[in-house]
Amino acid sequence: CGIVGYIGYREAYPIILKGLQRLEYRGYDSAGIALYDGNNIKLSKTKGKVADLKSRLEKEISTDGSLGIGHTRWATHGVPNDVNSHPHYSNSGDLVIIHNGIIENYDSIKKELIKRGYTFKSDTDTEVLVNLIEEVKKKDDIKLGKAVQIALNEVVGAYAIAVFDRNKPDEIIVAKLGSPLAIGIGDNEFFIASDASPFIEYTNNAIYLEDEEMAIIRRNKDVKVRSIKSDALIEPYIQELKL
Ligand code: GLU
Repeated sequence: CGIVGYIGYREAYPIILKGLQRLEYRGYDSAGIALYDGNNIKLSKTKGKVADLKSRLEKEISTDGSLGIGHTRWATHGVPNDVNSHPHYSNSGDLVIIHNGIIENYDSIKKELIKRGYTFKSDTDTEVLVNLIEEVKKKDDIKLGKAVQIALNEVVGAYAIAVFDRNKPDEIIVAKLGSPLAIGIGDNEFFIASDASPFIEYTNNAIYLEDEEMAIIRRNKDVKVRSIKSDALIEPYIQELKL
């Protein structure tokens, strides 16, 4: 399983597709990509290989856009099929998420969300998480980063996630506990991946998030790293990768 993301000035799709191919060694049963083209989120996903995703996606959606996230899934909750593949939308369609790992207490959270009117398309724990983030965000009328932080404090499990909001498509929020997550730092562009292989030809500066850290990655700006457990800003260690 693996995650890849891009926010910057290049076309995101070829970077994400190639990145997913480089992460294939990690094993997976499904793959998917969501792109933001300046107006809309476009999403395509499928059970099967990254090559299957490529042929399906290029028929289903236009591939333009300079922000995107991609995922290879190793199913833990819900069989490998198209619907359970990532990315997953929240109920409003505003948020879109990719996730590697397991949300162990997804069932009790799901029951609570159903009581509040949420519906679910997939059998995944991940769709529960994106709707929990949406519920927290709406209820408290807060920013996406804060909502992700509060939601992650309610979940038990392991995760590397990337999520963005179509109403604020100038940032991607990432967080990690247990599963790996690296951020490649370029000039006015940022990369997200399970390891550095998807972005090594673009930059050799990377932040490896520690467990219980999250980052707010802002287009043309910066990467702010915080603890999930407190509001403390963390000065990230930018590692120079050796080629
Ligand atoms: N638990 C999630 C699912 O089953 C993510 C699995 C993964 O790590 O790819 O969809």
